[in-house]
This record gives sequence, structure tokens and C-alpha cells, in this order.
Amino acid sequence: MVKNIINKDVKVLLENASVCQRCILRFLGEKEYTSYVSKVNTNKAIINLINGSEETLILDGNENCELIGNENDPASKRFLPTPCAACLGILQDKCDEIIPKIEEEVAASQHQFKEFVLHIALPVIFDLRDRLFMLYLKDKFGESYDSKESDIPSVKDICKWVIGSKYGKLTSTEFTPDSDFQIYISSLYPETVKECLVLFKKCPEAFPNGRKRTATEDDIYTKKSVLKAMEALSSEIQKLYDLPPSPPEKSCSFTEIKCTHSPLYLGGRYNKYSRELSQTPWVVDGERRMESSVSELITDVVQKHILADKIVFSSSGREDVDVKMLGNGRPFVLELLNPRRLEWSTEEMEAIENEINKSTTDIAVRHLQVITKLDTALLKEGEEQKRKTYSALCFVEKTLTEEDIAKLESIKDLVLYQKTPIRVLHRRTLSTREKLLHSVQAKMVGDHQLLLKIETQAGTYVKEFAHSDFGRTVPNLGTLLNTTADILELDVESIELEWPPKCIS
Ligand SMILES: [Zn+2]
Repeated sequence: MVKNIINKDVKVLLENASVCQRCILRFLGEKEYTSYVSKVNTNKAIINLINGSEETLILDGNENCELIGNENDPASKRFLPTPCAACLGILQDKCDEIIPKIEEEVAASQHQFKEFVLHIALPVIFDLRDRLFMLYLKDKFGESYDSKESDIPSVKDICKWVIGSKYGKLTSTEFTPDSDFQIYISSLYPETVKECLVLFKKCPEAFPNGRKRTATEDDIYTKKSVLKAMEALSSEIQKLYDLPPSPPEKSCSFTEIKCTHSPLYLGGRYNKYSRELSQTPWVVDGERRMESSVSELITDVVQKHILADKIVFSSSGREDVDVKMLGNGRPFVLELLNPRRLEWSTEEMEAIENEINKSTTDIAVRHLQVITKLDTALLKEGEEQKRKTYSALCFVEKTLTEEDIAKLESIKDLVLYQKTPIRVLHRRTLSTREKLLHSVQAKMVGDHQLLLKIETQAGTYVKEFAHSDFGRTVPNLGTLLNTTADILELDVESIELEWPPKCIS
């Protein structure tokens, strides 16, 4: 009973301080979100909390309408555009009015989704104003007002509840915190700096960006800085501000709505049959060296079918321009940023794969499929352990003998010490790495030519093993055969890694 009386007094006090009904319900500690969704529910919840009160609330059934009182009531009780002193107007009508705008923006973005999550950026000023109202209520009611700051749902919480449930209902979609589809709503309160200036002056050490000449107001008045200053000034903060805080002249408003899907990942394997095709666009000093590339031949077709902001190609290693990628192909990943749709059927993937394969004879794609982010990590992990088989046509200075062939074929897990090759020194740091040469099969194709089938650990520089890279790889083909050697042609025969997960034949 005592609690009810306090609740009624809290309500009257806050109404006189131009606090809106939803914020009054917040300061009464109501945590049931459905109470906030419509204004009818909000008023009912308030009545319940002050149960026994003689005051009659007049409801007109229009949930977008504030309480209607008589002319002698304070401004906040009548339907006037005075922004609420706590939520600065956001919970009064802004969060209801924005629903059709969100619907419009999302429709324009062409996203397809069943669930969504909301990210609402609100000015830090709400933390300050809530703190000041709490101090005001404690000051007026002492121990009788026993709510703690952590008991009070924040303006952001209510905003999310209201927008999330109304927008979900309107579009028959689900508001869930871990959705892949995110709607971002930003806001602006023009008086943020003016209201935070006192904190800045009293506690400049909380604002590390305050002295930087190039810092913008957003850089200086961050949430972290304002909260830190509030913490440091906790005992004197009520002396620095008016209690209760006065209603603002201008309300806080929503500014921008953006939406984005988490990335869509596609995995597959490619073969390359050309010795004049780079893996990714080859550009030197801003000029293209080759007309196309493996990545472009794939992504050009994919982006015709899957709308996304950008497609990022990556692969498990790469072969040189003049090296063919044969056998089971090389695993690759496409990361599609902000895709408009996440679900794709096996048939749709097959159709895209077929179109890529019909568009060119330089490459072929297989096993194209939707994969998870975890699968991309598994590819990176597998990279280190995987074995690769090459076929290399080599030239040797001396006349070959059967003994040379036998010597090469006796190799088993020979350690190669490879200094970073000269050809990649411009993009890699100088180091020596140890790589295993697992086995070699050798065939003479002339007195000075050898066809080698080489099985190595991933990351071995095979060309350098053949020509020695000025002695930077030891042992090398030349030192093993007591001669000098060079490489004429190289193909990747196979990459032993079962990936992507569903290998569709
Ligand atoms: Zn409010």
C-alpha cells in the first residue's frame, strides 16, 4: 500500500517535471516490455502500479495519442509538443513515427529476411538525464523511493522493445538479438555538447580527446568519457545541474536508417588451364598487366546472380601466372558483403557454377556451395598440414643417368631450407623456412630434361627447389645431382585437402 502511494507521488512529481508516460513507467521500475509497446498499455500499467488511486485516466483508444487532461494540467499531461525531459521526445512519439520510415528504407534496400536485430545509437545524454532524475527522486522521497539505477530500463531498451515489436508485427518478421540481418538507427540531439560542457570543464581528464585540435565533438563527447566524468563527479553532480532537469528546447530525433546482412560465404575449388592468367587482377603502377584473372572470371558471374555490396575472393595459397592448377583444383572462398539474400539452394549454386564454366575455357569451378564462417576457418587451419603434388619439367646441365633418377626417387621427407625467394622479397619479410619434400617420382624425357612428380608440404617454393634461387634453397635439385638445374614448366597436380564440406560430384 505504501508502495502504491509512493508510485502515485512519483508519477505526479515526474509529470510536473514534463516527463512522458513511458518514462514515468520506467522510473516506476516496470520491466515487462509489453507495457511500453502501446500507449494504452503504458497507461494501464501505470494505473496498476498506483492501484487504488482516485485519479481517472481518460483513454481515447488511439495509442499514438498522449494522455488528454484539462487546461490546468502541466504541459506534459496535455498533448503538446513539449519534449519529455527524460527521453527528449524519443519515447513520446518518435519511436512510433519511425516505423513506416524503417519499412520504406528496408524495402528500398532489397533485403530478404525472416529475423532482424536492431542497433539504435542514442546520444549519451540519456545516461546523464536518467542519473539526474534518479537523484531528484531520491532527494524528494529518500529511502521510500528504493529503485536502483540498474532497475530502470534505459531509453534505449524501451526504444528497441517498441520499435522491434511494432516493426516485427507489421512485417511478420521476428525481432531476435542474434539475427544475421541488422537494422541500424542513428539519432541526433543538438544540445549534447551544451549539456555535457559542465562535465568537461569540471573533469577534463575524462575527455582525452578534448585537447586534440582536429577532434570533432563526437570524438570528444564519447559515451565512455561522459560516463567516466559522471563517475568521477558522482558526489557533486546534483550541484552542477538543475534538479529536475528541464525539458529541452529541441527534441532528440532519429536521423538515419541503414540495414545490412552479415556476409554470405561461398566455397568451391577451381582449376586453371592457362599459363597466362593471374589468380587476382595483376596491376603494376596502376596499370593492368593481364586482361582477366581467376577471381574475376568467378566473381563476374556470381555478382550477376547474387546482389551484394562487394565480393572478396580468397584462396588456399596461389599459383603463379604461368602455373596450371590441375587435378582436384584449389579451394577458394568468396565473401559477399551485405548480401540481400542469405539462403540459396543447391540447384541455384549449380546453375551459377555451370554459367562460370560455360563462360571460359581458362578455368573451371567445382563444388560451389554456401558455407559457414567456421568452414572458412577450417580451410585456413587445413592449409598448414595439407600436402601438394606438383609436376615439374626441369632442365639439368649434366647428362642424366639412371643413378640420378634412383637418387631422387629415394628421397623421403627431406628438409629443405628456403630463404624468402627474391621474386617475393618485395612483399614478404626475409626469413628462412623449413619445408618437407615428402617424395619425388622422376622420369627422363631427354639427356638433359626431367619430368618430376613432387609431393611437398604446403608452402614449399617448388620453383626455387628446382633452380636453387642463387643458392637460397638448400638442398636443391642441382646440389642433389651435382649440377645446375632450372625449371621449364610447373603444374599443381593436386591439393590434398577435403574442402569445401559438401563435395558434390
Ligand atoms: Zn520520455
